[in-house]
Amino acid sequence: MSAAIGTPFGLFIGGREIPSSDGQQITLLNPATNRPLAEAAVGRVADAHHALEVADRAFRESGWAGGDGAQRTKALYRLSRLLEEQAAAFAELESLNMGKPLRESKGDIDFVVRTLEYMAGLADKIEGETIPIPGARFDYTIREPLGVTVHIAPWNYPLLLAVRSVAPALAAGNAVVLKPASLTPLTALRFAQLAHDAGIPDGILNVVVGSGREVGEALITDARCASVSFTGSGEVGRRIAELAAARLIPTVLELGGKSPVIVFPDADLERAARAIATGIFQNSGQMCWAGSRLVVEAGVEAALLEKLRAAAQGLKLGPGIEAGVTMGPLVSKDQMTRVLGFVDEAREAGARIFLGGGRPAAPELQEGNFVEPTVVTDVDPDARLVREEVFGPVLAVHRFESADEALRLANRTRFGLFASLWTRDLATAHGVARQLEAGMVTINEPPMTFPQTPFGGYKESGLGSEQGRDAPLAYTRRKNVIVNVGAAKPKK
Ligand code: NAP
Ligand code: MG
Repeated sequence: MSAAIGTPFGLFIGGREIPSSDGQQITLLNPATNRPLAEAAVGRVADAHHALEVADRAFRESGWAGGDGAQRTKALYRLSRLLEEQAAAFAELESLNMGKPLRESKGDIDFVVRTLEYMAGLADKIEGETIPIPGARFDYTIREPLGVTVHIAPWNYPLLLAVRSVAPALAAGNAVVLKPASLTPLTALRFAQLAHDAGIPDGILNVVVGSGREVGEALITDARCASVSFTGSGEVGRRIAELAAARLIPTVLELGGKSPVIVFPDADLERAARAIATGIFQNSGQMCWAGSRLVVEAGVEAALLEKLRAAAQGLKLGPGIEAGVTMGPLVSKDQMTRVLGFVDEAREAGARIFLGGGRPAAPELQEGNFVEPTVVTDVDPDARLVREEVFGPVLAVHRFESADEALRLANRTRFGLFASLWTRDLATAHGVARQLEAGMVTINEPPMTFPQTPFGGYKESGLGSEQGRDAPLAYTRRKNVIVNVGAAKPKK
């Protein structure tokens, strides 16, 4: 069967698309049908080394890392404009490859455009300090780019999560090697071509597709790799931290979550229900910060669950690129099997499936990786469904009697990425927000983030933080310089 997208995708190294060193290719599947979508080159260790070599040379010779941040501002801004012009095509490609509804892909691409604009604005504001010291001396600091930074991205927001770490690294003057997830490399490859068109020097942004274990590890363990940024599972995050520790290079790790949503009895239940549905059913729940544990006051549980049922039943499942579809398939058959396994295990242990719990019955959805929006109540707080990241449209529900109990349940997790809470009471809102062990909290809002707000987890959800004004600094090192300015005494 021939692929729907006729032109095969190559690796992107040194400003152009090239085949992999041994000519290997994979066939990517459309997750809505599991039929061939596109052919893409698969890189090997040799390609990882080639990309590092090209990036290293570009870093030293292209002038990108030079003192004039305004040049980088202009190039990144041009890139943001090109992407905005081509946003519709990028959104469609993302939906075809990853499965999510077109409306969500459009939102993702808008976020990428905004990220580029924001990081473009920071590229000429990476400044040193002057520090008073004793004697006839002058002290100043310089922020230098690290060199070649490696970025390993997941498949749930393929372009967004790649550019979120690549853009600040570029703003700071680094050369980048990006390894997208093997399932979803297409938009990153197109994006690298766009960066070339925007005038970013050849070799400054390279994309190597290939297996994480082979190509990812080859990139990190090479002496030319100066730092690694990773978004994905905790298991791989730990492996990357070990490899980075052996080389003493910095990491930014954005890992999983098991985020609580607390609903107090005075909350606006209508808005809360819609936000809870967004927080767990958007992107079919394949979100690091999915609000996957509902912690609701016992007296309003029944009313809230009925509203949640109505919100879930309003969702239209189907292929992401079809008009009107609001919930797409999971990214792969493996992911679907994994998610259904969590639900079956909880059901067998006596939990109650309030909503969904399996694959949808519609005949036209049988070929794709679809899972119904699912809500599970009366579930053991120690069940795997509650403790582990499911990465699917599955909400676990707990009830509480007192605010203390709510906080205890919310914080009862090894993760700490995100939490949200619903109340009209100011003191409860701010008091609980302070005590939640999570890097991000929303009050009376669904999960929400902007390029200018920090994004990062507590506990096992990660290390370091992304987005925000400090983001480029993670891709710099600081040099201190002391100058003797002579013994002349100042005039009286
Ligand atoms: P993963 O293994 O963590 O993959 C994320 C990225 O890391 C991919 O680019 C992957 O490459 C790469 N990778 C894998 N092993 C590597 C290694 N040893 N060294 C360097 N890079 C490596 O995630 P997954 O297997 O796709 O998904 C498994 C589970 O992880 C999901 O079910 C979900 O629970 C969680 N997850 C979380 C997030 C998040 O945003 N927090 C995102 C994705 C997945 P390949 O694609 O070639 O394997
Ligand atoms: Mg994996």
